[in-house]
Amino acid sequence: MSKPLYVTKPELAPLDEFIPLLEEIWDSRVVTNCGPFHARFERALCDYLGVERVALFANGTLGLVTALQALRITGEVITTPYSFVATAHSLLWNKLTPVFVDIDPVTFNMDPDKIESAITPQTTAILPVHCYGQPCDVERIQRIADNYGLRVIYDAAHAFGVSRGGRSILDHGDLSVLSFHATKVFNTFEGGAIVCRDEKTKQRIDHLKNFGFVDEVTVVAPGINGKMSEINAAFGMLQLGYVDEAIRRRREIDGRYRAALRDMPGIHCPPLGGETHNYSYFPILVRPDCRISRDALYARFRAADIYARRYFYPLISDFPMYRGLPSAARTNLPVAARISEEVLCLPIYPQLSEQDVDRVIAVVKEAV
Ligand SMILES: *Cc1c(COP(=O)(O)O)cnc(C)c1O
Repeated sequence: MSKPLYVTKPELAPLDEFIPLLEEIWDSRVVTNCGPFHARFERALCDYLGVERVALFANGTLGLVTALQALRITGEVITTPYSFVATAHSLLWNKLTPVFVDIDPVTFNMDPDKIESAITPQTTAILPVHCYGQPCDVERIQRIADNYGLRVIYDAAHAFGVSRGGRSILDHGDLSVLSFHATKVFNTFEGGAIVCRDEKTKQRIDHLKNFGFVDEVTVVAPGINGKMSEINAAFGMLQLGYVDEAIRRRREIDGRYRAALRDMPGIHCPPLGGETHNYSYFPILVRPDCRISRDALYARFRAADIYARRYFYPLISDFPMYRGLPSAARTNLPVAARISEEVLCLPIYPQLSEQDVDRVIAVVKEAV
């Protein structure tokens, strides 16, 4: 039996370079509570990403939950059903009501044409996702937000290092939230960050992620424990030195897939937007005119020990805690419903060899 191929595998910097950093932590006995590595990693991330301020988190979900609190979002929030479930869960954790709008059939991002008709007097914010690292139409979303006085928080969990027009995609909206989970392009095992614009908001976020403490005796909000540990921050510092090479390797894999799958009948590879893409996922659509159904292809992959994933199926709006919402109706989300029935994400990660990629391609070829 050939070795199993997963849709992703975390890229890890060399262990022998991590040991001296661990020794520093052991010597100092500063292991958490925003110590020296936390501060160094925040600065290094700003430099790498080309943004002014970041606040590190223990994971991306706590970042999303806190971002909504930092801006005091209330009532209804317009968001996408085509994402990882944490996007909408962050709203429920804040007792906010998600309002789902359909996605664009090319980018799989929230369709800006659908936003205005979803706005009500209760709407206070828009929570879009740069799905698969594909930039949202940030200018149009901002114009709508400005017209209606809404805040914009991007779930940028897939968008590490993506830029357009020489500007980081994270430098849009009020806040952007990153995830450094092991499955993402850039990982700190677990981790996340909020990218923010002004010092006052950064301070509020820093208080909220530390129980609401401002100083030893002052608590200003019912904050959470969202802090990133020194171990994760030190590892993040190290990982930053290797992420360019990882993305370069991903680009090669993306190119190999694209060239091989281009002419396969019924298989569609969505084109990439953004000037610097991060190749975080390799989604394909198995169209209705394909000889094999999406789920049959998924099963064929499994039989060949290849664990392709149906990201994003089911839609968030189909989970029990969301499906009763008026906006969760399938008739409101026809494009998202169709894409979620056709999509399959293929393995893509730096350690994947050309032979591995060809093994994946061979399964598709044989099936179609
Ligand atoms: C991974 C992911 C999250 C959650 O991030 P964690 O760091 O795992 O908490 C949120 N939104 C999207 C779109 C994601 O892919």
